[in-house]
Amino acid sequence: MTMNPSIDISYPLDTLRLDTVNRTDQVTKTAGGKGLNVTRVIHDLGGDVLATGVLGGFHGAFIADQLRQAGIKQEFTAIKEETRDSIAILHEGNQTEILEAGPTVSEEETALFLKKFQELVQRATVVTLSGSLAKGFPSNFYQQLIEIAKTQNAKVLLDTSGESLKQVLKGKTKPYLIKPNLEELEGLLGKEFSLKDLSAIKEALLAPIFTEIEWIVVSLGKAGALAKHRESFYRIEIPTIEVVNPVGSGDSTIAGFAYALAEGLETEDQLKLCMATGMANAQERRTGHVDPAKVQTHFKKIAVKKI
Ligand code: ADP
Repeated sequence: MTMNPSIDISYPLDTLRLDTVNRTDQVTKTAGGKGLNVTRVIHDLGGDVLATGVLGGFHGAFIADQLRQAGIKQEFTAIKEETRDSIAILHEGNQTEILEAGPTVSEEETALFLKKFQELVQRATVVTLSGSLAKGFPSNFYQQLIEIAKTQNAKVLLDTSGESLKQVLKGKTKPYLIKPNLEELEGLLGKEFSLKDLSAIKEALLAPIFTEIEWIVVSLGKAGALAKHRESFYRIEIPTIEVVNPVGSGDSTIAGFAYALAEGLETEDQLKLCMATGMANAQERRTGHVDPAKVQTHFKKIAVKKI
């Protein structure tokens, strides 16, 4: 689910010249936003997935069309204001981004989306909630969605950060899984961690804000992940790979986990699959795509240890 999607525009330039005209003929425009990355990657893995959220105006129509062309099912709620653009300028080895805040969703549109969500969730076993909320949604909106999903026994994987994550962790109904990276975990707990001291990270996951969340996967980029499942802790070590573009690897990790869950894989294989999917995304030029053959190759080389 993507509550603030965007058209991701990428402009590669040899040099970015300020205060003058820059020209390029190499623009790429893709359906973006974390939730849409998750959707595409589940689709690449061969999973049965449906994209939902809110879309507005011509930009919204572009995203809907891209999903149609990719053969991905969708049921979005139409909104009046225009879906946003997110611009990345790739220059001299840098990535300069311009991110629009995006549309404001009205109370009526929020109510329409909630109604749709209530219907859709009856057909889902796993729900992924990713990214930021568009303006206009109440700050406890993810909490509301998690409560609705729970009534239908759908498992919610939540990948958001900052205030919206804090809000959910304070709420009474918990998501099934959260996947903070190290920086997000530091932000949540107001503490710094080091990869050299995994026991401090393990200890941190015992904090009261995390109780009742079945799965916490702390993703550590090329260092793999550390995960907590109920009372058990796991260290997942991954091999070194050649990386092309790691943007969207966290979203792919969520996609791999959702797919593994829907397929009923064993705990250790769930962890291997979500890591292998994140790794395979890092080897693609396009954000939020995986080659399933690469996922299988990585899967076999990943070690999961109980710690
Ligand atoms: P996020 O994108 O949310 O910051 P991470 O950077 O931790 O998340 O990436 C998620 C997962 O993707 C990692 O746990 C790992 O499996 C894989 N991954 C990310 N970056 C790399 C990398 N440079 N090399 C190998 N695997 C990577």
